[in-house]
Amino acid sequence: MSGPVITLFRRDLRLADNPALAAAVATGQPVICLFVLDDETARPFGGASRWWLHHSLVDLDRALRACGGALILRRGATVDVVADVARTTGTTALYLARRYEPWAADQENALKSRLEPEGVSVRRFGGTLLSDPDAMRTGQGGPFKVFTPFYRAVLKAVPPTQPVLAPTTVPAPADLPDGDDLDTWALLPRTPDWAGGLCETWTPGAAGAHDRLDSFVDAALNTYETGRDVPGIDGTSALSPHLHFGEISPRQARARLCFAADRQPETATGAAAVERQLVWRDFAHYLLHHWPTLPDTPFRPEYASFPWYDDPVALKAWQRGHTGFPLVDAGMRQLWHTGWMHNRVRMVVASFLVKHLMIPWQAGEAWFWDTLVDADLANNAANWQWVAGCGADAAPYFRVFNPILQSQKFDPRGVYLRRWLPELAALSDKQIHRPWAVPPLELAEAGITLGKTYPEPIVTHEAGRARALAAFQAWREGAS
Ligand SMILES: Cc1cc2nc3c(=O)[nH]c(=O)nc-3n(C[C@H](O)[C@H](O)[C@H](O)COP(=O)(O)OP(=O)(O)OC[C@H]3O[C@@H](n4cnc5c(N)ncnc54)[C@H](O)[C@@H]3O)c2cc1C
Repeated sequence: MSGPVITLFRRDLRLADNPALAAAVATGQPVICLFVLDDETARPFGGASRWWLHHSLVDLDRALRACGGALILRRGATVDVVADVARTTGTTALYLARRYEPWAADQENALKSRLEPEGVSVRRFGGTLLSDPDAMRTGQGGPFKVFTPFYRAVLKAVPPTQPVLAPTTVPAPADLPDGDDLDTWALLPRTPDWAGGLCETWTPGAAGAHDRLDSFVDAALNTYETGRDVPGIDGTSALSPHLHFGEISPRQARARLCFAADRQPETATGAAAVERQLVWRDFAHYLLHHWPTLPDTPFRPEYASFPWYDDPVALKAWQRGHTGFPLVDAGMRQLWHTGWMHNRVRMVVASFLVKHLMIPWQAGEAWFWDTLVDADLANNAANWQWVAGCGADAAPYFRVFNPILQSQKFDPRGVYLRRWLPELAALSDKQIHRPWAVPPLELAEAGITLGKTYPEPIVTHEAGRARALAAFQAWREGAS
């Protein structure tokens, strides 16, 4: 009898629409389902992601056990661990889903060159994205650098298709290799346990992903186009961590949207708009695949000489939500409490960091990496670079978001601000966006002492904007 097949789970923590798992089961051989916690050859997970990962692995193991399988957990460098499991179990093949982080691509190449000479075939499958980054090329044959033509090309090349169903059985080998006890990985915070807000907000795992998508489709898909910019309502899917960990595939999400649009035509515009966001996700991964330095290095190389500031005090104020700008502070506190932030607010807080404070986008990327439950190398880097003006198809640096106007426009009644900044709740809808402009008597009536109960602005909008534009101008002149 032939030996087992290893399915290596990385960020595809689901049974359904998982081509690598489906192919492994279809061999008829026993399947070893393996997850490796690799802090050696991958960028280590941030704190919030570790919390998510713990719960997602519990869920995946439960789902596999219900099909007769089990999830084997090991820790170490992926290639060494997989080679060891393959050798000790007589494995004949390794199946895995392709990923696009530079380290993941390196792992895939290293697995091939290590295992194949030992008689273990290595097969890579899709499923992480809607489109294959190697297949998408401009008319001239080069990689896309602009989103809209990429978007059109994806829609043309990749029509919606039906996801693959979950296997009903995942036959495990009689002698399962040993694995670690998940608790020994200590992925959950203990002292202090800061994850209370995450527990209240999320249900990691495939069932949680599908429940969230169903609720979004029922409650908000028909208003997504306008609602997606309003941070005070649940106007977006909040699927991003589920997609990041692969608890739901983008094809499954797209199929659900198409189904809704067919059945309820009033949701068709919203469904197309969410599909467009899924293609933004593909685009970020596409950029990372073709430009692997994206997480650290400006996509537009001239920005390497941009005169950023090193300002640890301002960085800390931004991280803690103590800038004195309510929309920025509310966003940073939503992030700290829930591990997630609304997209409109992400753009505002990111712009504030790189423009008003002139702190390098890499510092913001690193903070998001640690605190977001959806921290994703491709999406995070591509979006930070977009805001900083140095990315592909980016907003130019001189376009500076005004955090006061953004707040007035997208949270006019202060719903989002009051949720995350209860200390400002007593201000009127008009005042809450600019507490520093409120007369002292009215501030006192609202129980606010600037500098004590709520910070003074660490920079004024006008001064921050002027400083950023002057630096940009001087840098451009120096560079030309
Ligand atoms: C500075 C900055 C950093 C970001 N960092 C991340 C990150 O680390 N991980 C992450 O998943 N997203 C990141 N985003 C993109 C975006 O903010 C989130 O994907 C979105 O807020 C998730 O909410 P949602 O699931 O409700 O999105 P929806 O509006 O419901 O969109 C559906 C899905 O499309 C994808 N998507 C939406 N917007 C974008 C986008 N701009 N770029 C790429 N994919 C997108 C996500 O997978 C999302 O779940 C970042 C944006 C900014 C401005």
